[in-house]
Amino acid sequence: MTICPYFHEPAELAYGTEVYPHRPDLQAKQFWLCGPCDAYVGCHKNSDTPLGRLANAELRASQDAGASRVRPAVARGQDET
Ligand SMILES: [Zn+2]
Repeated sequence: MTICPYFHEPAELAYGTEVYPHRPDLQAKQFWLCGPCDAYVGCHKNSDTPLGRLANAELRASQDAGASRVRPAVARGQDET
């Protein structure tokens, strides 16, 4: 069970087809998704264990700004091979 840090409610397991519909390479990956606040986090490869805590659009934007060379969630996901 993964809890959304914003609403403190259970997140739903989703596939990359929902989170990254434009990324065929991510469509088999699983994500924990909270629809109401558009927050999600990727999972370790071939598992539903989250890589970290859910991030909403605002947090993702600040992470992108702080580490423009590495896109945090995606980069971590690709490293978990
Ligand atoms: Zn939420």
